[in-house]
Amino acid sequence: MDTVVSHEPFTDRLLFHELVHVVQYEKLGLEGFASKYVRGFLSGGSYDGIPLEMNAYELDARFAGAPEKVFSVADEVSKVDSCWQVLMLWRTFHEFNTGNLIAG
Ligand SMILES: [Zn+2]
Repeated sequence: MDTVVSHEPFTDRLLFHELVHVVQYEKLGLEGFASKYVRGFLSGGSYDGIPLEMNAYELDARFAGAPEKVFSVADEVSKVDSCWQVLMLWRTFHEFNTGNLIAG
């Protein structure tokens, strides 16, 4: 993927936000990214509740707050990924215990 499309004018912050998605996409692959995005939308209940978006918003806010401060987006994306896995494991465990295990 080498094209970013936006319906609003690009600012450094927006571009940074989109580049976070590129890192997420590289890490997860097309299928992983798409499935995580859709699942996040369904479980989060809205666009703002999608963990991949929350991650990108958090990091673009950090960038906008201190553009001179260097940090690794790849490391931050990996951290969220392990949090996500723990959360999914916990949900599965909880749903299993309460008899509410939902496929997917
Ligand atoms: Zn986004």
